[in-house]
Amino acid sequence: MKITKDKVFYSFCAKNEPALTVDAPARIEFETMDCFGNQLRRPEDVMEALDWDRVNPATGPVYVNGAQPGDALKVTIEKIVLNEKGTVCCLTDEGTLGARIEGSHTRVTEVSGGLVHYRAANGLAVDIPVRPMIGVIGVAPEGDLDINTGTPGAHGGNMDNTMVGEGATLYFPVAAEGALFGFGDLHAVMGDGEIGVSGLEIPADVTVSLDVVKGKAPAFPVLETEDKISVIVSQPTVDEACQKATELMQELIAERTDLDLADIVMLMSLAGDLQICQIVDPEKTVRFVFPKKYIPGLTF
Ligand code: CA
Ligand code: ZN
Repeated sequence: MKITKDKVFYSFCAKNEPALTVDAPARIEFETMDCFGNQLRRPEDVMEALDWDRVNPATGPVYVNGAQPGDALKVTIEKIVLNEKGTVCCLTDEGTLGARIEGSHTRVTEVSGGLVHYRAANGLAVDIPVRPMIGVIGVAPEGDLDINTGTPGAHGGNMDNTMVGEGATLYFPVAAEGALFGFGDLHAVMGDGEIGVSGLEIPADVTVSLDVVKGKAPAFPVLETEDKISVIVSQPTVDEACQKATELMQELIAERTDLDLADIVMLMSLAGDLQICQIVDPEKTVRFVFPKKYIPGLTF
């Protein structure tokens, strides 16, 4: 099954028309546009020409038969095939250093041989290994909520988490019938924080598999890899996101072990990593990451 890049939405909402309806489990290929709706693809394309109504398109949504509020939608990212060209930008008043920047700047950058070939204005050539990831990914939020694809939250959305790459499995809280899952905003590479407000924004073809875990909706998305489990929390401030992510990881561990609370706290303090996803979107996103090998049974 495949969804082409003309099937996009710009807000996560229970009222969206499904682009595709599937039975779980399902394996689907998604074509995605970059976060600019593929509008900045040549060196002469400038931010000022952007049609902001076409920013952050997510491909989908997919209606998953049988997915109901209270369930978890399990999403495994099987394969990411990047386009050969990506775009990075920065502009005045946007991002952590926006107050120091004048005007807007874009670099259309070649991607080949597993490298991002960044070329600076002074001629410096910087080749950065690709680390493909999905910036915007999620499900419809509850009730009448309508959350634009630029904003992260409990439903997922614009989390810009570098761990959302090939081999990762995410669990989202289903809040609307059918889950209405979709994603976009691929990055060939991005640093934690995304301080300049963009990664290397790039179209891509992505294969995911979907399944439903009945009755196991997490409060915020959970991400699992072969050796780690993490919770991804978005809040108005980084401080609030750190507090909430730490609480949710403690609860996740407590539900899966008979360790004392004090031991959980001490183990989290010794071996857990609280890491920044992004600090430039309307809500800030952090993840609490814990190695699975230390606690038997520590899996979603
Ligand atoms: Ca993003
Ligand atoms: Zn992006």
